Amino acid sequence: MSETTKYSGGCQCGAVRFSVTMALGPVIACNCSMCGRSGTLLAFVPASQFELLQGEDMLTDYQFNKKTIHHLFCRVCGIKPFARGQMPDGSPMVAVNARCLDGVDVSMLEIQHYDGAHA
Ligand SMILES: [Zn+2]
Repeated sequence: MSETTKYSGGCQCGAVRFSVTMALGPVIACNCSMCGRSGTLLAFVPASQFELLQGEDMLTDYQFNKKTIHHLFCRVCGIKPFARGQMPDGSPMVAVNARCLDGVDVSMLEIQHYDGAHA
């Protein structure tokens, strides 16, 4: 298992920056109409482990389907660093896009495929 680490990350242009403390294990590649197109590799963490450092006002919120997840993207560069939602128990959750973490080589990560298109 990977160590609990404090990661930094953000969008491409630098407007949106965050830090997240987590053990970066397998990441989720979902094939739903959103993730399948944008290619995000997701790591889910309790919202308490995530801190948005800057750029809240630069984020555009997009919702679809059941509208339970806030798909956020930078309105300048269009990158999707993270999404906000809820764990199954209703507690606040953040889905971090591992591709937006500083210094993380996503080719080294274990990927779990999730059939969100048929969930
Ligand atoms: Zn940006």
